Amino acid sequence: DASDLLRGALLQLSGSDAVRAAVVKAPVSRSVVARYVAGEEVADAVRVTGELRSTNRLTTIDHLGEDVTERAQAEHTRDTYLALLGALDEADLSRFGAAEVSVKLSAVGQAIPGDGDAIALENARAICEAAERVGTTVTLDMEDHTTTDRTLEAVRALREDFPWVGAVLQAYLHRTEADCRDLAGPGSRVRLCKGAYKEPASVAYQDGGDVDLSYVRCLKVLMAGEGYPMVATHDPRLVEIGQALASHHGRSPDSYEFQMLLGVRPLEQKRIADRGHQMRVYLPFGEDWYGYLVRRLAERPANVRFFLRSLASS
Ligand code: FAD
Repeated sequence: DASDLLRGALLQLSGSDAVRAAVVKAPVSRSVVARYVAGEEVADAVRVTGELRSTNRLTTIDHLGEDVTERAQAEHTRDTYLALLGALDEADLSRFGAAEVSVKLSAVGQAIPGDGDAIALENARAICEAAERVGTTVTLDMEDHTTTDRTLEAVRALREDFPWVGAVLQAYLHRTEADCRDLAGPGSRVRLCKGAYKEPASVAYQDGGDVDLSYVRCLKVLMAGEGYPMVATHDPRLVEIGQALASHHGRSPDSYEFQMLLGVRPLEQKRIADRGHQMRVYLPFGEDWYGYLVRRLAERPANVRFFLRSLASS
């Protein structure tokens, strides 16, 4: 439909270097960025985490940047996570997982030709060690479908030493209901989201309604299981279904959580937290905000206006 076309066009347009340069330096970008991204520095991430704490919201913090192809850059990302975890500890925000971190394997080396998987695993392991020291956890974000198996393999390897490492599953993939069954065991932390990448029909549902139905099937498996489901969606119907399934299975409020992105439906985030549910906000920070921002804008046709305006004003 029209919104799919718009979304496709925006994602395509955003790939151009000229468009990227124009958007990054456009003044209107600042306010749009400020809504969805905590800032560029570790201190910004810590400050916004503290602000969210005051309204009972937890965080999972993501250092922006993906598709790193050089080892030094991957290590820089790792070191930024280590600095972040240290700063959270100092601000007394990390204990009991109040603020955890989300890591993209492609940001810590997965895409480096040759031994990328090993490099990414080693860097992720260092981040897990630091997280454990300050009393919190790590979730490995899920990227496009060509990386799903390798990312789940990394989760499995890390869980041998750090059983609390979280996985992300994307309801738009045909395979995901089976992955939910595999990962619904005791101690397993699984974030369920719809999925944010453009995927082919051979692997993913293309119709929004089919994605929603898959999300509900997956949620049923996770809520019936013995793990810790993390219900990541802004879709009001799915949030409601998540609440109903949790109570149907007699789950206590500390045995699952809801998750939303920074800047998306903030009032609903507060309402859910006020009702006694755990609500965790995915909080991105860092200089490399462009790709993340474009995916968020593409999710909502009304947002495309901002994007086009930022081009026109540059
Ligand atoms: P949608 O059907 O897209 O949205 C439902 C409603 O929410 C919309 O009608 C609108 O009112 C509101 N809404 C949604 N998005 C926006 C927006 N950007 N701005 C304003 N309103 C909006 N994807 C991955 O592929 N891998 C991951 O690791 C991953 N981690 C995530 C972690 C968290 C905590 C969350 C919340 C999402 C994550 N995602 C991830 C993104 C996810 O896959 C979806 O792309 C995104 O959440 C939009 O889907 P939705 O469930 O909110 O439903």
